[in-house]
Amino acid sequence: MTDKGGDMLDIFVIGGGINGASVARDAVGRGYSVALAEMNDLASGTSSAATKLIHGGLRYLEHYEFRLVHEALAEREVLWSAAPHIIWPLRFVLPHHKGLRPAAVLRAGLALYDHLGGRRLLPPTKTLDLTRDEAGRPLKPGYRLAFEYSDCWVNDARFVVLNARDAADRGAAIHVRTKVVSARREHGGWTIELDGEGGRHSVRARLLVNAGGPWVDEVINGVIGKNGAHNVRLVQGSHIVVNKLYDHDRCYFFQNSDGRIFFAIPYEDDFTLIGTTDRDYDGDPKDVKITEEEIDYLLAAASEYFVQPVTREAIVWTYSGVRPLFDDGASAAQEATRDYVLKRDGDAASGALVNVFGGKLTTSRRLAESVLEQVEEVLGKKGAAWTKKSTLPGGDFGVKGFDGELRRLGMNYPGLPAGLLRRLLRLYGTRARIILGAKQDEAELGRHFGADLYQAEVDYLVAQEWARNAQDILWRRTKLGLRIGAEDVARLEDYLAGRG
Ligand code: FAD
Repeated sequence: MTDKGGDMLDIFVIGGGINGASVARDAVGRGYSVALAEMNDLASGTSSAATKLIHGGLRYLEHYEFRLVHEALAEREVLWSAAPHIIWPLRFVLPHHKGLRPAAVLRAGLALYDHLGGRRLLPPTKTLDLTRDEAGRPLKPGYRLAFEYSDCWVNDARFVVLNARDAADRGAAIHVRTKVVSARREHGGWTIELDGEGGRHSVRARLLVNAGGPWVDEVINGVIGKNGAHNVRLVQGSHIVVNKLYDHDRCYFFQNSDGRIFFAIPYEDDFTLIGTTDRDYDGDPKDVKITEEEIDYLLAAASEYFVQPVTREAIVWTYSGVRPLFDDGASAAQEATRDYVLKRDGDAASGALVNVFGGKLTTSRRLAESVLEQVEEVLGKKGAAWTKKSTLPGGDFGVKGFDGELRRLGMNYPGLPAGLLRRLLRLYGTRARIILGAKQDEAELGRHFGADLYQAEVDYLVAQEWARNAQDILWRRTKLGLRIGAEDVARLEDYLAGRG
């Protein structure tokens, strides 16, 4: 399907983060004609800067956000089943100490957490004795009681790309590096001016979805031309990635006596991810960067719990993002609601607008369903809701099928390193076979760009996943940036630019 020329699209989506990509996918799957524009790379905004949990949000229970927690908890198993290559269960260890609520209260909160979301596959909460359990070993002495509960991990940037890929497979037009510079209501619909890869051109649509994340107000003000919109509170959150702090595969949920929480999570086999922070942000979201104060806070907070002090020298990478939280007037950044809010104006005759405020990776599929309810009211109903029982590209091997799929891949490609097969299966699921095709050894995978990155994967990412430069490939489609040196990056850039 093309969105160029004079044809009137049903829906145009601004923003290729998780919310925009999920809306585009759901809508095109129901039979609407859809296009999406992302001004940079897919997931280059907030959606690649998360803690990367599909979680109910234990902390939101304390803020009585029952609707959000219930919906989010129920999504854990739905999303795990949809994409078991990029989403999988994790166990979280919450050490109890005297600065926290009494153990019985925490236990009751976790019992609620276990039951609110209709858990079927994830294991329930249990109590640990940290003087005996392996999880106690990396911690300072003195911790005895802990609770261990379930949530899930998500590869956030790939979650976005797979939604966009599925949308495109079903007929949506996805434009990357294409900014929406203006959107005007005229002649019974929207005229949307785009500037980017396709040059400067305009498209027409009956309904506009503004999923601009931290730029959502800027889109309302600058692109649509309504002055004075102020709906979101921008809250910065940063993470540090350090050399692996411990050997087991569980995460820690630490709550300080001042109520601030942070996680330590096994990351990319050799590292530990520590975050996040919460601070109001007033700069341009594209310039967000971890501050020295945040680094100091995260190092000090982690060193409070781990025997081995966590030092600056252990840091291998940092990242930072801006949460576009609906501004509910909360006093502290940590207390602003994490729930999403949709606001609609206009109608099919004049051009309708749905603005998306807030929302989490976890609730993105449900958010898309809510946007589609608005779409149906404006454009009329087409197909029924369908994403709950669907799989994302490459995820069609069964919720607990990863190990079996890896064994089959190993049998089919005995000449390729097991580590490479595992990495490809984690990123691309069954579509790893499209990258590998009939290639049976590393020489057949084409040029080598460092670590285990070969031309076959790079070509796939360019052809199928809208990758344009080394940054897209090394930090969003994969995390090989953690392992590849400057010379390899330069060679990859040259290859992508057609010079190498
Ligand atoms: P974005 O991902 O920012 O996407 C908006 C996109 O719109 C951007 O890519 C931008 O380039 C594009 N855009 C803007 N204006 C235009 C224009 N004019 N033309 C074209 N494109 C435009 N959620 C969870 O579920 N679990 C977590 O563990 C979690 N942890 C988090 C930790 C941190 C530190 C942060 C910051 C967030 C976390 N979240 C988490 C929340 C989650 O990441 C965000 O709510 C979500 O990614 C927001 O997605 P979005 O699509 O609304 O915004």
